[in-house]
Amino acid sequence: MLKSIMIRTRFAPSPTGFLHIGGARTALFAWAYARRHGGSFILRIEDTDVARSTPAAVQAILDGMEWLGLGYDEGPYYQMQRMDRYKEVIQQMLSAGTAYHCYTSADELEKMREEQRARNEKPRYDGLWRPEEGKALPRPPAGVLAAVRFRNPTEGVVSWHDLVKGPIAIANAELDDFVIARGDGTPTYNFCVVVDDWDMNISHVIRGDDHVNNTPRQINIFKALGAPLPLYGHLSMILGDDGQKLSKRHGAVSVMQYEEEGYLPEAVLNYLARLGWSHGDEETFTMEQFCAWFDLDHITASAAQFNTEKLNWLNAHYLKQADDSRLAAATVRRLERQGIDAAGFPGLPRVMALYKERVSNLNELADAAHPFCVALHPSPELLALHLTGPVRGALATLSERFKTVDWQAQDLSLAIKATIAEHGLKMPQLAIPLRVVLLGQPQSPAIDAVLEVLGRERVLERIGRVTG
Ligand code: GLU
Repeated sequence: MLKSIMIRTRFAPSPTGFLHIGGARTALFAWAYARRHGGSFILRIEDTDVARSTPAAVQAILDGMEWLGLGYDEGPYYQMQRMDRYKEVIQQMLSAGTAYHCYTSADELEKMREEQRARNEKPRYDGLWRPEEGKALPRPPAGVLAAVRFRNPTEGVVSWHDLVKGPIAIANAELDDFVIARGDGTPTYNFCVVVDDWDMNISHVIRGDDHVNNTPRQINIFKALGAPLPLYGHLSMILGDDGQKLSKRHGAVSVMQYEEEGYLPEAVLNYLARLGWSHGDEETFTMEQFCAWFDLDHITASAAQFNTEKLNWLNAHYLKQADDSRLAAATVRRLERQGIDAAGFPGLPRVMALYKERVSNLNELADAAHPFCVALHPSPELLALHLTGPVRGALATLSERFKTVDWQAQDLSLAIKATIAEHGLKMPQLAIPLRVVLLGQPQSPAIDAVLEVLGRERVLERIGRVTG
């Protein structure tokens, strides 16, 4: 039973860009697996590629995780802070004979590869410095810094039962004695991952299948260290709407870009959860439900295809359900980014209620709320079109009525009806100009609801501005 072992999963991004939507799904699955089994989820920043890692990218990962609400129980651990530990393990492996010094220079390696290619052979290290029983090693050349290579077994197969892909087996003969520390002493990627997964007691490595080729090498290092093996599950990649590898040309690929584009985190999470995993026909569910249901058996081994329409549908679904004051707070922040101060308008939660079923993202909601918070001056053309003589007269009457009417939708509606009757107009002949005057545009939800939310003071002020 899984419950009897401590489940520990991790998300181990390299901070070389933003948090990619594929990375977010990996994180979500690893997180949910730990949550499901009462285990721990660990965040590890794999920043050993110093040329490409940046603090801004680390921050983007942390921001993305926070926005999605993927909390971690441990970390973030940074590989750059664990260098001493990697060096210690390399020394242990050198002493144990599971790793060895290799003095072949980069130029020699390149030449070796060229020759192998010319002979139609798979390029690989020729094993010159690999110690063997009874083999005399060359004398180390002066002035060449030795790299450290892993002494990979030459026979047998490395196999594991992948939790997503099923059984996988690779012949050791296919694997090279790969470098675990460069000449300058810096440890390499495949090696650091193993030391970390070992030290951090990771029970389940859930990651993208771009790493499936690394797994046999990593398993061999685990074995050489006498360390207990984690289980591995490799998630298939995410394809764009058109079936091609997901990339920038498909639109947003960074998690925070979804935030910018007005998606709710629960919509993105729900969407990602269904990307390659299913629970019967369930399409909408909370993260609590997801964590209760999530298992690795129901992950599809084939690539998952991105479907923007479905994401938009989920976003609209969650917008409808979202609490009005939460949406109001999000709208204030969004308008603030545009330099619009909406915090002072108390009717904002009610504006949210009026519009949240009509929009598909938070940006549209903020656009809808904008003219409620700040009077938008209708263009002279729009005014000329809608504010004809009779309409001006009716607006003046209406304004008088509005001064004393009980400020609630029903009474406001009666005041409008009385005014159109008095001026011989039809409802749209007054309601449309009224929308233009109040919101700067001819469309809006029911005019009485709009009036009620705007409040007497704003309504009188805005009508007065064009009729006064
Ligand atoms: N750092 C690797 C990446 O960002 C992930 C390594 C792993 O999960 O083992 O692709």
